[in-house]
Amino acid sequence: MNAREVAAVLEEIAMLGELTGENPFRVRAFAAAARTLEGTTADLDALARAGELTSLPGVGPAIAETIAELLAVGRSGQHERLRAEVPVGLHDLLRIPGLGTKRVRTLYAERGIDSLERLEAAARAGEVAALPGFGAKTQQKVLEGLGFVRASAGRRRYPQAMELAVHFLEWLRAHPAVAAAEIAGELRRRMETAASVDLVAASPDPAAAVDAFLALQGTGGAAERAGEGRASLRLRDGVRVNVRCVAPERFVAAVAWATGSAAHLDALAARAAERGLRWDADGLRHGGADVPLPDEAALYAALGLAYVPPELREGMGEVAAAAEGRIPRLVEPADLRGTFHCHTTWSDGKATVAEMAEAARGRGWRYLGIADHSRSAGYAGGLASTRVRAQHREIDAWNAAHGGAGEGRFRLFKGTEADILPDGALDYPDDVLAAFDYVVGSVHSSFGMPERAMTDRVLRAVANPRLTMLGHPTGRLLLTREGYSIDVRAVIDAAAEHGVAIEINADPHRLDLDWRWVRYAAERGVLVPVNPDAHSTRGLDNVAFGVNAARKGWLAAPQVLNTWELQAVEEHLAQRKQGGAPGADRPHP
Ligand SMILES: [Zn+2]
Ligand SMILES: [Zn+2]
Repeated sequence: MNAREVAAVLEEIAMLGELTGENPFRVRAFAAAARTLEGTTADLDALARAGELTSLPGVGPAIAETIAELLAVGRSGQHERLRAEVPVGLHDLLRIPGLGTKRVRTLYAERGIDSLERLEAAARAGEVAALPGFGAKTQQKVLEGLGFVRASAGRRRYPQAMELAVHFLEWLRAHPAVAAAEIAGELRRRMETAASVDLVAASPDPAAAVDAFLALQGTGGAAERAGEGRASLRLRDGVRVNVRCVAPERFVAAVAWATGSAAHLDALAARAAERGLRWDADGLRHGGADVPLPDEAALYAALGLAYVPPELREGMGEVAAAAEGRIPRLVEPADLRGTFHCHTTWSDGKATVAEMAEAARGRGWRYLGIADHSRSAGYAGGLASTRVRAQHREIDAWNAAHGGAGEGRFRLFKGTEADILPDGALDYPDDVLAAFDYVVGSVHSSFGMPERAMTDRVLRAVANPRLTMLGHPTGRLLLTREGYSIDVRAVIDAAAEHGVAIEINADPHRLDLDWRWVRYAAERGVLVPVNPDAHSTRGLDNVAFGVNAARKGWLAAPQVLNTWELQAVEEHLAQRKQGGAPGADRPHP
């Protein structure tokens, strides 16, 4: 087990302990140790061998023993006892917004509610409102939350699902019966969350490869045969791992088929039928014979289509576009020249301004925008106006000392992530706002406003000439929290009108603006920067997830503000500050 896997078990011990009413100090100790391990770079195995696990912050002798056990045998007796004690369904209940462990415990202890179904029945019967610590409002929220939890049950965010996929992919590729293997499905289409991990393997003996997969031990789930050449593994938390094994000559078609989406495959099948071909799970055929497919481009070419990148295969007009040669050259991570939304130790970030700058330069970027929290964001160390001035002095000094000149110069921009206050005002007086190179405006409070009021709030901010770009425009947290109610179309239309950019917040928990809206925003001429919302130097790597979303939104590089060269960005920001409103229709430098 690696540190993160150990941390996940400790976290679960804390959660299960809370549900079973264990000593709260113990519970908190496990939770704290989990956080330590998540962030640690220490070599746990070495520490365990030396008996020095207690040198880690927050790790006492009892927890050290659990960690050592996990490292040695891959499981913990205490963890398994707790698991046996707590009904599986309580995990689902915990995912309902507003139901913490305390309330879930009450539901279970007082009413024996241990599943979403029982909870729904009790809430509909009005029994939940009567429980201590609940009430009619909570009961209503529970009912609303049920739909959200059902929709997200068994799904994982992209990075976690991808990590799993790579794990199984490596196993497949290393197996002697397997000639080639690829990731397909939602992950290959770079969906923000995935319900399943889909893999395709080529083997001269597909049945043997399936048998080997079914015999795979230590995956913590139940494997089953799912038809000829197919195996399916259900992991404990509901995620499915599907493997299809085919003969090598069928591999390309099988990968394309397993990549989907269903709507895209249907459109391809219709196209094939028009040309006297047949396209289905067995591949592309003409008469009774397979059309040989050396690669996916050959598949699309056989159908008279330009190649469609997996990200676009959502049944949203991509087949028609491919027929007319209108598939854009999609933005790539290497197109980025910098980024705008980052936090430092001035607010709630972990790295200093200088560390962030060097990390950005180390990625080959030419600029980095620092956007710490604004004064009302007390929870995140928001900056009072006087501290803004001090930070600006630091940034100016850094640019002067380290920015360099000419071709290779690097620039730190002075930005802010200003709260959009409930009345739609930006969280600094105008003279302070004017001192920034650019302003990101984000909603961080009063999420419960009705849609009309929330939309008006954001529209007022968008109409403010000091606003450069809108941050995480719906506030959603994938699989955790739905976004607030807001008329996204109206916000995009207003951003187009006022020349305000809308970020794709690339934090994999957010990916907000949703890619389903990105294409519309770009069509309206709105610039869409990909911003990492980095709170550490490593957080800068989030941009890769944001580029996935940008690609799913059909964006080419010029529509992504941070693919622009430094000088073009400087001109854009300067124009913006003078009330100009250049958009994506501006010629790309
Ligand atoms: Zn934010
Ligand atoms: Zn932020």
